[in-house]
Amino acid sequence: KRNERERKKLDEMKREWVAGISHDLKTPLTYITGYSAMLLSDQHTWSDEEKHTFMRNIHEKGIHMQELIQDLSLSLQMNDAHLPLQIEETDMVEFIRRLVADVGNDPRARDFPIRFHCAVEHHPFFFDAKLLQRALHNLMMNAIIHNPPGTPIHVLLRFQEGVELIIADYGVGMDEETLEHLFQKYFRGTSTDQPDDGTGLGMAIARGFILAHGGDIQVTSQSGKGTTVRVILPRNPI
Ligand code: ADP
Repeated sequence: KRNERERKKLDEMKREWVAGISHDLKTPLTYITGYSAMLLSDQHTWSDEEKHTFMRNIHEKGIHMQELIQDLSLSLQMNDAHLPLQIEETDMVEFIRRLVADVGNDPRARDFPIRFHCAVEHHPFFFDAKLLQRALHNLMMNAIIHNPPGTPIHVLLRFQEGVELIIADYGVGMDEETLEHLFQKYFRGTSTDQPDDGTGLGMAIARGFILAHGGDIQVTSQSGKGTTVRVILPRNPI
């Protein structure tokens, strides 16, 4: 009975999700076609500033679509337990520093400084850089999207047995329902104030990739106060 109910709920979420994703892809496309049509129109001469605004909008919407499509294909690849890893030795500090810079360059991060703290300059570690990049990028983007403008988010990297990475924001936080379903595929929380911005896959993908390394992810959050995500990775990934 319980399984049946769960299955129905998942089916319903999937249906809602397909409807949502079609809408999510259509919205940025409408902007892209609209702004490019305006740029190409010979009915009107646009100032350089106007042109720049249109092009920036096209670029931002394009990036958003890219992320949606990447998440979609990653979630199809991600067959939870048996994800093939390509483990290589990489400098973890450098890797996170580059990721922070990368996230900081996203137009959505313009008003959200990211403070990176790490006591050491270098620390070699074994992991699948591509998968971890994707997982941690999702976590950092979530922190940024839910943070109040002007407030920094904090990224803290520590080495003990393995790796401990903490990402803290001071934003809307999550209610109990969101916390409970956070890692479910297709789930989009009630704390999301920009409903067009997500796929409901980011956290599921992040968790899948971290677990595939033999690691763990823990989230603590308080409505209205913010969210702290803690990622643990073992020294020797399985
Ligand atoms: P989405 O694509 O909707 O962001 P995710 O799987 O990344 O999907 O996240 C699921 C939900 O969890 C989000 O819709 C949002 O409500 C909530 N969430 C994730 N990260 C945060 C955060 N840092 N602060 C508040 N809510 C968050």
